[in-house]
Amino acid sequence: MLIRTVQGAMPVAVCTLALLLPTWLQDSHPVVLQAVALLPWLLLCTAWGVSRLFGQPKVSFILLVSLLSYSVLQLYLNHLLTDANNELMIWLMCLMAPPLILTFQLIPDAMAGESSNWKCYLLVAMTLGLGAMMLVKVPEPSEVLLSSLPGMESGSPPLAGLILLATSMMVPLFMMVQRSESVDLVALMALLGLGFGVCGFRVPTMPEVAFSAVGLATIVLLLLHSYHLAFFDTLTGLRNRRSLESMLNDLPRGFHLAIADVDHFKQFNDTYGHEVGDEVLKLVAQLLAEVQCGGRVYRLGGEEFVILFGSSCRGLCANALDRLRRRVAEYPFYIRRPLNAPSGEEEDRPEQITISLGLVQQGIEDRHLKDVLRRADAALYRAKARGRNCLVVDDGRTPPWTVIGRGHTLP
Ligand code: GH3
Ligand code: MG
Ligand code: MG
Repeated sequence: MLIRTVQGAMPVAVCTLALLLPTWLQDSHPVVLQAVALLPWLLLCTAWGVSRLFGQPKVSFILLVSLLSYSVLQLYLNHLLTDANNELMIWLMCLMAPPLILTFQLIPDAMAGESSNWKCYLLVAMTLGLGAMMLVKVPEPSEVLLSSLPGMESGSPPLAGLILLATSMMVPLFMMVQRSESVDLVALMALLGLGFGVCGFRVPTMPEVAFSAVGLATIVLLLLHSYHLAFFDTLTGLRNRRSLESMLNDLPRGFHLAIADVDHFKQFNDTYGHEVGDEVLKLVAQLLAEVQCGGRVYRLGGEEFVILFGSSCRGLCANALDRLRRRVAEYPFYIRRPLNAPSGEEEDRPEQITISLGLVQQGIEDRHLKDVLRRADAALYRAKARGRNCLVVDDGRTPPWTVIGRGHTLP
């Protein structure tokens, strides 16, 4: 949740920085201004390197387009081209950069991968070539040509180009709602950077600040993404085993830990297939995440989950777990009838999914996670032996331990 909030805040941060920082930098020392002029190159190139390192080729191509757009703007700012040429150049940039950015946002991952990324480079080179050819072919665009380009008014950013730019932002915005991948956010930020660069090309340091903000926000996004990959399970969205291990040092001694395991899951997979099995795991994960009593849920691997409680009150933890067990057992799971199924076949089929759980409290002899897990696993094994769909609490006494569920009641 926190990660999502920070991710969503990145485009807002780009806009805020691009709007506020140039005014603040207005009267700065020339050395500061020189440093600001270097920042876009530094940050965009670093972001590009990080994206290649983290295996995000689509993001790297969007950053390449940003770098090229910024170079074009710098060319405009630093060379005294004719006014007409400048305007044509910016018009061309508004026309060509957004489709390139959207192409790299939307192409399948495989098309930007190592083996076929030359096609992406070729596309960028062709676009650049086309732009350069138009500028060379029309060295001093006549008034007739400029007036034929909609919204071309001397001295102001081309209105039609800006409308095109603003419209193209709808695509990443829409995709963010649909799938929320970091490439969508980067595409949106690249378009925003371009928009601020083009609109604010007469405002000192605005292009520099806007493109630097895009580079910086992309680096933050990529780091967040890799953190998410390292500590969260991609199928269920729950924290993973590594996250559990890193969390353990912060827990008070005597914490409670439970392992939950889906019953007869192999049989379920064999009957309905792995994909349906994955959907069930996602649903079970969602139900487990509703755990009360301050519990935190982790996916240990396969169809096994860990529920960790900071609390040292066994009764409360056992209560919370038994509520989860009942919630899963009573949940109306329906296996959808395949679209191509023969007409005589029955409609969506109801299935009961159950989980077994083993709960333990960390003792003095449990020095490492594996010690606690081994004991929780032993309790879980007993729950399976007791007929499944129940919770076994290892309360430190010799067996029989407390069994809850399947006709057994809470102690
Ligand atoms: P028990 O009630 O004793 O736990 O029986 P079980 O069938 O649930 O346990 P078993 O360990 O025999 O099988 C676990 C199965 O879980 C085997 C494997 O195919 C399946 N599995 C593990 N990870 C995944 C996954 O990510 N997705 C799917 N769909 N299945 C998985
Ligand atoms: Mg199982
Ligand atoms: Mg298992």
